Amino acid sequence: MYLAITLNLSRMGFPLLNFVFYLSIARTSLCASEGWFLHVTDFHWDSTYTSRDLSCNGVVNTHGVYGDYWCDSPYSLIDVTIKAMKNATLDKTVDFMLWTGDSVLHTGDEHLSLDNNVGILQNLTAHLQQTFPTMDVYATYGNHDYYPNGQYPPHNNEIYNRTLEHWRTWINDSTQEATFLKGAYYTLKTKYGIRILALNTNLYYTSDKVTTHMDDPADQFVWMKNILQQSRRDSEKVLITGHVPPGVAAEGGKTWFYQHFNIHMLHILHQYSDVIIGLHFGHEHADTFRMFYDHSGRPVMTMYIAPSVTPWRYKTSATTGPKHNPSFRLIKYDRITGRHLDLVQYYMDLPESNKHNRAIWNVAYIATRDMKIPDISPSSMDDFANRTKNPTSQEFQNHLKWRNANAEVMPCDALCHSLLFCNFMKLQERDFKVCLRDTQHYTATLAFGKRK
Ligand SMILES: [Zn+2]
Ligand SMILES: [Zn+2]
Repeated sequence: MYLAITLNLSRMGFPLLNFVFYLSIARTSLCASEGWFLHVTDFHWDSTYTSRDLSCNGVVNTHGVYGDYWCDSPYSLIDVTIKAMKNATLDKTVDFMLWTGDSVLHTGDEHLSLDNNVGILQNLTAHLQQTFPTMDVYATYGNHDYYPNGQYPPHNNEIYNRTLEHWRTWINDSTQEATFLKGAYYTLKTKYGIRILALNTNLYYTSDKVTTHMDDPADQFVWMKNILQQSRRDSEKVLITGHVPPGVAAEGGKTWFYQHFNIHMLHILHQYSDVIIGLHFGHEHADTFRMFYDHSGRPVMTMYIAPSVTPWRYKTSATTGPKHNPSFRLIKYDRITGRHLDLVQYYMDLPESNKHNRAIWNVAYIATRDMKIPDISPSSMDDFANRTKNPTSQEFQNHLKWRNANAEVMPCDALCHSLLFCNFMKLQERDFKVCLRDTQHYTATLAFGKRK
């Protein structure tokens, strides 16, 4: 067994050094009530990589076989990522997968079409179904999956209809198919009884011009409340998944959602924090999380935000995003209580993989080992978040590295530190602004203390 796994990992391009990580993970997953789930997000497949480079934000001199930090994922990167996901599940009991959207490349609508976007979704769905034929997959749309980009309507349309043809194997429940066709949201129970709420939060995203003035696009809020209410009555535990996260983005300090949607969403989530065991989102292409606190300041929920598969860096005339490596993650949880126990974050070293012409995947961190926390419950994540308040702490330096999937540690001044720290702690713009001011005051006091 030992030899078999070692050979397999080296064939897949895993350095032998990492074997010890895999062995330790395998050892910790022996309890029958403990299982794992996969989370993958933001593939952003660019089939024009090397030909037209439609997604590329910068000049690519040498096209690496697995892609480039300036561009979205070529098919070769998608293929090795799905293989690495499969490989990572071999020594674990993985119960299901979350796939949180953004499969389409970053480019102008003039280069896309409804057929093109549905085709990308169809191909990725087929690839995942072939690799994981018996896996329950809870898939949600990203803002880039719609055509025209981000303009999700609050009613049935051709994209929802055609997507369901491909996702029916996973959704496979007539009531849920109806809500999917209405607004691309649904709920299903895992085989161990955890309720999954798969949301279409693209309806609340500020790039959606169709829903701006609405109160409850596609009646998703009222539906969500009803499900959560019923779950409380039935003593179920609920895991929420979707693409665009509520809360404030670290870059720019603005909410992704329109203000009124952000407030409404947070209100519902807080109301049902006794039922919700975790929230898993994508969209940010960075590894981070957000904390929810009750009125007494007790941590009650955590939203985990997974980094992307695509290495693409955003670039505007004013800012350039950091380099980041392709990633996916595995989360260990209690199948009955839903309690989140651990998180293993994987990344592909893009330059090294291109240099050696083979996919080199590593473990970026194991939460319980590298974050010095006993599990990834809200109280543990709150403990970690608080330790990042000091910008010179090992925890904050680690966060800077992990945030970009170990590709680049950006220089981070006091403002940058406060943006990242407050991103963990505050989910409304006005609270976020107060947090920025207080945190910068705190770090200035630390620096002053040192000078004395
Ligand atoms: Zn994305
Ligand atoms: Zn997105």
